[in-house]
Amino acid sequence: MEIPSPDEDSSAKFLIQSGTFIDGNLLVNSDGVRVVSQSEVKGPPLIKPTDNQLSLADVDTIKVIGKGNRGIVQLVQHKWTGQFFASKVIQMKVEESARKHIAQELKINQSSQCPYVVVCYQSFYDNGTVSIILEYMDGGSLVDFLRKVKTIPEPFLAVICKQVLKGLLYLHREKHIIHRDLKPSNLLINHRGEIKITDFGVSAIMASTSARALTFVGTYNYMSPERLTGNNYCYKSDIWSLGLVLLECATGKFPYTPPDQEEEWTNFYELMEAIVDGPPPSAASDQFSCEFCSFISACVQGDPNNRWSANELMGHPFISMYEDLNVDLASYFTDAGSPLATF
Ligand code: ATP
Ligand code: MG
Repeated sequence: MEIPSPDEDSSAKFLIQSGTFIDGNLLVNSDGVRVVSQSEVKGPPLIKPTDNQLSLADVDTIKVIGKGNRGIVQLVQHKWTGQFFASKVIQMKVEESARKHIAQELKINQSSQCPYVVVCYQSFYDNGTVSIILEYMDGGSLVDFLRKVKTIPEPFLAVICKQVLKGLLYLHREKHIIHRDLKPSNLLINHRGEIKITDFGVSAIMASTSARALTFVGTYNYMSPERLTGNNYCYKSDIWSLGLVLLECATGKFPYTPPDQEEEWTNFYELMEAIVDGPPPSAASDQFSCEFCSFISACVQGDPNNRWSANELMGHPFISMYEDLNVDLASYFTDAGSPLATF
């Protein structure tokens, strides 16, 4: 279907007919559709999402593409434009007192404008269900990707890491957000060789609801020691998680090995003890460059004061050492194939 241009009279009629876009225009880009109000079309380039833009009634569900601890993710398609989105559906009982906080978090999500952060177009709360319409990332998450490639060589990792650092810099410095739940499943990739951070508001929402305990379910834990012990945590907590994620990508294994030749961590408290009281993990110097080993060490310092910030890490030699190779992440991601239909 052809999308009317913002200046055409027909656009107003078109929008009214839809029954969901009361005061808006459609702007379509290569990633999806954004709806902006008339004044914003002619105003500054920064697009500010407004309320009641995109309704669940405007999308068809194609299929479930992912499952997390707290809900499911579906591939959905916009009825008029054919654009794909990901819809994250979380069931939760929300106490009255937490509702306002959730609304605030979702607003922060929607106001994020950064190429290294997954766009959140719209979110809804209805009768115990939170639905979040997200930019669709057609390569899935780093978990999906690692399952296929097993390990990621350093030159690719350096480019991936630079993008994640840029996303973290944006969240930390411009939005003043601590992600709190940086892990491979929250880093999404696409066929253009982009990697973006997702789910940064969701963990804050969970922290304020009765669903909180659920966030501790799972074999792996990327949380920093100070977070696990309930001490004050800060931006540097995300850096700890980044270190663990990179080490896992490089070696193909979660950096903390379970005891007694067990395949997985079965006892959450044992894992917690290893993270809090044990030595931080490190990259083997006979398998990796000294720059990579030093980068990991800068991330996983037990004392957050000794950990580097995202800004400092941007200047670390590991980030620039493979620049001459002109690494092509797009082909790397695409050649590994994708489990998703629209890749
Ligand atoms: P948790 O519930 O602790 O956040 P999780 O991160 O594994 O765990 P989800 O955030 O629900 O759970 O994501 C599950 C999977 O859904 C991801 O691993 C990814 O494959 C897919 N997914 C999530 N968001 C998107 C998206 N925007 N585009 C494409 N795939 C996505
Ligand atoms: Mg997630």
